[in-house]
Amino acid sequence: MTSPKKTKTIKTIKIDIDKCNGCRACEVICSSFHAMPKYSSNNPARSRIRVTREPIRDVYVPVYAGEYAAAECAGRDKYTIDGKEYDECVFCRAACPSRDEFKEPDSGLPLKCDMCEGEDEPLCVKWCMVDALTYEEREVEIDEEEPNPEEIETGLQSLVDKHGLDKVADMVAQLAKEKK
Ligand code: SF4
Ligand code: SF4
Repeated sequence: MTSPKKTKTIKTIKIDIDKCNGCRACEVICSSFHAMPKYSSNNPARSRIRVTREPIRDVYVPVYAGEYAAAECAGRDKYTIDGKEYDECVFCRAACPSRDEFKEPDSGLPLKCDMCEGEDEPLCVKWCMVDALTYEEREVEIDEEEPNPEEIETGLQSLVDKHGLDKVADMVAQLAKEKK
């Protein structure tokens, strides 16, 4: 009998920009949830979701902070959707050297959405009163990867550097005994 395949959870927040009214409640709760201590302050500049707002043109675009980019792009993009032109980089999720979005304002360190780790549902989704944000989870099957010998070697080397060869050898022997 074949054993069931391993799965991983894909978390998605769907954004309906036609519903967003630019209220910024999502920015407020996100920055407050990530304050230290939690909920002790709120500052949308520290939020992992930022909403581009241009009320005169009825443009509201919530975007989530993604991966940090060490260098800015060589080119820029500009979208026109349903006749509305959106500014350069509006849909980009990266903290990068060309702008202040998704950077902690005091330290300049990049911010990244963590899907409100520990919560049953992202708080920005809960706080969006007009359902512009909806949360979905799905399971996808993954192939079990063979362990990479180079990674094991690097991991072992760092353990030896930290604890010494004798201690690591003792730990391995102990583990081997327990596994029998
Ligand atoms: S809470 Fe919802 S409506 Fe308000 S700015 Fe955020 S996404 Fe838009
Ligand atoms: S999911 Fe959580 S961490 Fe990510 S933007 Fe929303 S409130 Fe912030």
